Amino acid sequence: MTWDVLIIVGGPAGAIAAADLARCGYRVGVLERKRFPRGKLCGEFLAPRGVARLQQHGLLTPLLRAGARRIRNAVFISLGGHSHCLPLSRFSESVEFGLGISRATLDHLLLDHARACGADVLERVCVTDAIASSGRIVGVRARLSPSGTRVTFFAAVVIDASGRARVLGSPTPRARSEGDARLFAFQAHVSGIAGVGEAVQLYFYPSGYGGLVRIEGDLVNLCGLTTWATLRRAGGDPKQLLALTMGQNPRAQEILRNARLETPLAGCGPLRFGLRALPREYLAVGDAAASLDPFLGHGITLALESGLLAAALTDAAFRAGDPTTLAPRYARAFRRCFARIWRAAGWLRPIASHHAVGDRVLALLPERALAHRLLRALLFGGRTG
Ligand SMILES: Cc1cc2nc3c(=O)[nH]c(=O)nc-3n(C[C@H](O)[C@H](O)[C@H](O)COP(=O)(O)OP(=O)(O)OC[C@H]3O[C@@H](n4cnc5c(N)ncnc54)[C@H](O)[C@@H]3O)c2cc1C
Repeated sequence: MTWDVLIIVGGPAGAIAAADLARCGYRVGVLERKRFPRGKLCGEFLAPRGVARLQQHGLLTPLLRAGARRIRNAVFISLGGHSHCLPLSRFSESVEFGLGISRATLDHLLLDHARACGADVLERVCVTDAIASSGRIVGVRARLSPSGTRVTFFAAVVIDASGRARVLGSPTPRARSEGDARLFAFQAHVSGIAGVGEAVQLYFYPSGYGGLVRIEGDLVNLCGLTTWATLRRAGGDPKQLLALTMGQNPRAQEILRNARLETPLAGCGPLRFGLRALPREYLAVGDAAASLDPFLGHGITLALESGLLAAALTDAAFRAGDPTTLAPRYARAFRRCFARIWRAAGWLRPIASHHAVGDRVLALLPERALAHRLLRALLFGGRTG
């Protein structure tokens, strides 16, 4: 099968790029190994800037109809009990709130949107490797599920949006830490929690931090990071893991008193964050280009924005009649647009990774517009969505 643009796969970065390119009239193929809706380990908070992008695509109303919660504040709560409330209205000029929404719902809606815009979406197709010609990737080999049949697909432009896996391959970013300090994530949907309200709450504890946000129905998403050493001590017992992580923060312990796990506690890791070397043979978008520390809550937003950037540059390259130099041009534009937020992530990391630093910063941070403007400038250079 041959398309103008082939996109591996159907997460937020790939789906939004597919929707935009299909709307421009290109023949777009999307290959996704899972069948949607599928859950994904995530904090399930979408920042206002990401909400603004979805609103531009007419997707805000369907998301709210599907049960997404409006989230108006981010509240950071230190181990010592200090808290800081960051109004999210300061992070986008067009939308005053973020959203709490399960990835099953969000990603399904985005993929259906790509389909409705005219993209060929093929699910249960696992991409295995790339086909190269004259220094560019011009196709992929894949395996169909459940038959196992091998197939090949070709396109003038190939976009890898396969998340941290980056199936078309390249070195993964250097591990931030090794051994017992390696980071792992855990997540579950819980019920029986009162007091989260319209906030995404971030609790610090000695081995990391964890968040709570309301999603559809009465559910709250619980997601946290911890170290390999803590995971090992928990010995595979979810209750013990929660006690050794969120349970170490007295305010989290209080709010989780009557919590019930509604889904099994999922885990993933070890996690690595940072900007990857961007390929010259194909385009890499979303986490395939760079994974952002979840502390900043902007991973999905940047996935959407890099997908949109790739779509705009692909359209321009086709119009100019030459997609051959697209990948290096996209790589330069990507660095120009997003370098700031990765630098900021590096500077903010000590607050997220050392609870004593977090405690001190939260104790000193004034709840003033100036501090919030500075944070916005640090992340986006004052530009908002
Ligand atoms: C613990 C944790 C918490 C997070 N919390 C938040 C948060 O609250 N808010 C936020 O904005 N960001 C958060 N993030 C970041 C966010 O999850 C990612 O930035 C985002 O999912 C990236 O989207 P993507 O489209 O690049 O890829 P993904 O969402 O990772 O999608 C990749 C897709 O590729 C498919 N795939 C993979 N391999 C193949 C293959 N070989 N063939 C076919 N298909 C394949 C997968 O099935 C998947 O559907 C968090 C990250 C972590 C680790």
